[in-house]
Amino acid sequence: MLRIGLTGGIGSGKSTVLAMLVERGAAAIDADAHSRRVTAPGGAAIEPIRQAFGDAFIAPDGGLDRARMREHAYTHRDARARLEAIIHPLVGQGIQRDVDEARSEGRRCLVFDIPLLVESGRWRREVDRVLVVDCGAHTQVERVKARSGLSEAQVEAIIAAQAPRALRLAAADLVIFNDGIDLAQLRTLVDEAAKSFGL
Ligand code: ATP
Repeated sequence: MLRIGLTGGIGSGKSTVLAMLVERGAAAIDADAHSRRVTAPGGAAIEPIRQAFGDAFIAPDGGLDRARMREHAYTHRDARARLEAIIHPLVGQGIQRDVDEARSEGRRCLVFDIPLLVESGRWRREVDRVLVVDCGAHTQVERVKARSGLSEAQVEAIIAAQAPRALRLAAADLVIFNDGIDLAQLRTLVDEAAKSFGL
């Protein structure tokens, strides 16, 4: 099974491309969804987090208190690493179950949806090829504004906090340039990529 890491800046069109690849028969792997699941009420990371950080980091609903943890991580430099040491192995188990299921279904291609692939670095070793969905900053701003109601300045701040476009492009094995094209034209580009992935 070919493992593709799909990434791109906010509003680049990652989710749209992923949905098109899934229509072509790829299996999607969503690491963020596993991360949310294990830190939700009753999730496997909750008791280890309670033991490592204390009750104060568990919200009244029994899930991880994300706002409190974020705040804590600003002032305690090791907090993020300690939290990740708890969460990552559990996320890894969830992903392994997805991979096993995809294999049993006879899928030829797995697409890992990893918005922060370039930022985190850790994922690069886990995939065979990196697929970057790219567009200009102006298009990112227009798309995200239309979808979310965020202001132009807010979207620009998010873009500035993400990996620079050049760095993301440098990490790519394949780029889908999703700018100035409609969804039908995007589908044509995705179909070409899918063929090169054996789909
Ligand atoms: P985020 O990082 O915020 O999750 P994303 O990279 O997953 O965003 P999408 O959600 O796929 O981006 O796309 C953002 C919006 O732009 C969606 O409403 C999508 O329908 C639209 N869009 C993406 N590509 C095109 C295109 N080529 N033509 C028209 N609309 C598009």
